[in-house]
Amino acid sequence: MILRVALDVPLPKLFDYRTDEATRADVGYRVLVPFGKKRLVGLIVEVAADSDVPASRLRAAEKILRDVPPLEHEWLELVKFCSGYYQRPLGDVVAAALPPRLRRLQAIPELPATYAITASGSEALAALPARQRRMRALLEQLRQEPRGGPAIAAELRGARALIARGLEAGWVAEVEPPRPEPRFVRALTLTPEQEQALARLRQGLDKFGVSLLFGVTGSGKTEIYLQLIAEVLSRGKQALVLVPEIALTPALAAAFRSRFADACIVTQTSATPEAERARGWLLAHRGLAHIVLGTRLAVFASLPGLGLVVVDEEQDASFKQREGVRYSARDLAIARAHIAGAPVVLCSATPSLETFHRATSDKYELVPLTRRAIREAELPAVRLVDTRAHPVHDGFTAPLLEAISARLGRGEQSLVFLNRRGYAPVLACPACGWVKGCRRCSAHMVVHLSERSLRCHHCGLAESIPRACPECGNPDLHPFGRGTQRVEISLGEKFPRARVLRLDSDAVRSQSGLDGILESADRADILVGTQILAKGHHFERLTLVGVLNADAGLFSSDYRAGERSFAQLQQVAGRAGRASLPGEVFIQTRYPGHPLYQALVKHDYTGFARSVLAERREAGFPPFVFEAVLRAESADAMRAMRFLREAIEAAPPRSAAISLFDPTPMSLARLAGVERAQALLQSRSRPRLQAFLSKWSETLYRLPAHGVRWHLDVDPVEF
Ligand code: ADP
Ligand code: ZN
Ligand code: ZN
Repeated sequence: MILRVALDVPLPKLFDYRTDEATRADVGYRVLVPFGKKRLVGLIVEVAADSDVPASRLRAAEKILRDVPPLEHEWLELVKFCSGYYQRPLGDVVAAALPPRLRRLQAIPELPATYAITASGSEALAALPARQRRMRALLEQLRQEPRGGPAIAAELRGARALIARGLEAGWVAEVEPPRPEPRFVRALTLTPEQEQALARLRQGLDKFGVSLLFGVTGSGKTEIYLQLIAEVLSRGKQALVLVPEIALTPALAAAFRSRFADACIVTQTSATPEAERARGWLLAHRGLAHIVLGTRLAVFASLPGLGLVVVDEEQDASFKQREGVRYSARDLAIARAHIAGAPVVLCSATPSLETFHRATSDKYELVPLTRRAIREAELPAVRLVDTRAHPVHDGFTAPLLEAISARLGRGEQSLVFLNRRGYAPVLACPACGWVKGCRRCSAHMVVHLSERSLRCHHCGLAESIPRACPECGNPDLHPFGRGTQRVEISLGEKFPRARVLRLDSDAVRSQSGLDGILESADRADILVGTQILAKGHHFERLTLVGVLNADAGLFSSDYRAGERSFAQLQQVAGRAGRASLPGEVFIQTRYPGHPLYQALVKHDYTGFARSVLAERREAGFPPFVFEAVLRAESADAMRAMRFLREAIEAAPPRSAAISLFDPTPMSLARLAGVERAQALLQSRSRPRLQAFLSKWSETLYRLPAHGVRWHLDVDPVEF
């Protein structure tokens, strides 16, 4: 027999191995094979009778690894789809999809075995002499109910040896672990609007379909999908929930645990320790986990009983993998549900325009929620502070300072939001105009005063702050602009009695985790933070949000910047007035008439989305066209550009339906010492674009690379 094996090597093909021990039922098992001088763990994708490789060159597979049950047809369909759609070798995709432990020849953390007493064990128990005290205790335990190894060991010394003796004597047998029945804890009565939304989603539960649960912040989307999951579990199926942020998963997992008593809930993120990740993955794979909760990589969890996929904050940029296999977990979630014949629920207050467009053109089901779930909680009032009329000092206008001051007087909390960490984004010499750039990236270095250093936020390079200008010797270098650290300091000066707390990824790192810092956040009077603050957490006393520097998102060359900016501003605005106190949002801007702000004031995502979609349709941008880029990376910018030109010349003939543009450097052209350039492809037809990419990709693998690394990025989000 011939095994066709997906291996984690950068070649777009499967590798053939011979074996005597295989049958067709071995598809989906992992296998240990020799590759060059190495041994690799791969995945058996096909078992065939013959191979195109001459018999003399076929090597033998070393061992089929049957300790883990084989991956099922549906899972293989998912990775094959991913490989085809994103133009990556199947072996690459499989490697990205499996937890690291399963890709290596390393002991798999075992699921604790469960033991039960046998009939002869019961007889033995009656007959065993009293001095066999510990064996009697073991059998006595198991007579009550089957138990896991760790549970036995907790009560019985030397449990391992005892169990081994019991197994040998035939008194004890290993059994399938009992699958606990999850119980849903009903904590809330749904509002009529929530009830309606749930009823509609419930109707779609037994088949594939995409719904967009589109509700303002605080409308109780989470509660709806929790109840929907409860329904799925009661039908004996599994649920997959994807969330954007690693930092939020532990809190969400805890919330899930408190609502689903006795359920087996597995989390999968890149921060999950390897052994735990593998254990959780196996629980899901064996059908024992009820719910898998995780970030984008969780989309690859093996779930034989998949009955529902939820993607929370579906617009979030973190669902797109930016290296290796550049997949969108949101889009794969849909493909996956399609394969499994299960529904997907996308949740958002500010959906991506792709999703919104489909939901309003009958491709997806639109399930709206227009009101906040807690009756007293009104949407916050959004006010635009015109910085031409109210000049900015130290980052603040007078109206915003007055508003903060009023909150301090009432014992309420304020949040100052700006999306820039560090002290100042630029260090410059006012005498000669020198600006400190990163030597590895085309970017400025950011001044971090607390660590007295300069940092590159793109590559992580850190340097000490120079004493004088390297160009002209001027010792008086100035930090320009402001980041969270500087704002924190100014607030401390302006409100010396207030407790000011900074919340950004630097603070989170130095406080070892978001949880601890969020705890102290409830006691602070003024919070200063980046988008870390925008999501998830409820601050009971928070009634004011002030936004500094919002205009930065208005005039980007990236056509998605407006959409992201709106989503982010609405999300932070949603932090104000969550409970019974009404909230207010101040946005400082030079452009109060800008349509984005006008829509925010009216909480009118729909109006905003429609106007941007009209522009996109006019200009020929997604979702009205489909895009891909060929990207080249090299230490030498000329080489990268030359490779792209050669690639375009070598491109197969294409119809007029596909536009292939001249190569250009990326907007961040140099990253960590690597020069990056790309050529953009657009087409109104996704199938034609796909067909072209597959043919092109074949020629690309044959092109001499000369120190250039290349990849295709389908549905790119970086330019
Ligand atoms: P969203 O995800 O739509 O922003 P959440 O699901 O986080 O909203 O809900 C916002 C708040 O409203 C939470 O504190 C939640 O417990 C509460 N909530 C949701 N549904 C109800 C309900 N039916 N009755 C009372 N409170 C609710
Ligand atoms: Zn100078
Ligand atoms: Zn850098």
